[in-house]
Parts: sequence; structure tokens; C-alpha cells
Amino acid sequence: MARLIFLVVAIALVYWLLRRFRRPSSESGDAAQTEDMVSCARCGLNLPKSEAIASGDDYFCCEAHRRESKPE
Ligand SMILES: [Zn+2]
Repeated sequence: MARLIFLVVAIALVYWLLRRFRRPSSESGDAAQTEDMVSCARCGLNLPKSEAIASGDDYFCCEAHRRESKPE
């Protein structure tokens, strides 16, 4: 009977260890979605900062809106 209890405890321990090791790797995969969002100063469209066109303190969704807003 003692052997059966030891077996159940061992299986529970292995199961617990597997859950502990899997959790960190599955949660660290969403970092790419936390990129800064900016809105176009001309039309207000929201887009990732890396895709926006920066002009001074403002961001624009496309080159045309940047030109329309800041004629030089
Ligand atoms: Zn725009």
C-alpha cells in the first residue's frame, strides 16, 4: 500500500514540475503585440509607430498626409 501512495505522489510531482517548466515559455510569446500605437495627425488613423511617418512631434499614416499637413 505504501508503494501505491509513493507512486501517486511521484506522478503528482512530475505533473507539477512539467506545468512549472511550461508556463514561462508560453507566456513570453506575446511581446510583439505591445508595440506603441500612434495616430495620424491628418486623418486620425491608428497604426504601429514603426509603420508611421514621423515629422517633428507628429506621426502620419502615409507620405501624402504628411505633405498635406505640413506644406513646405
Ligand atoms: Zn492619415
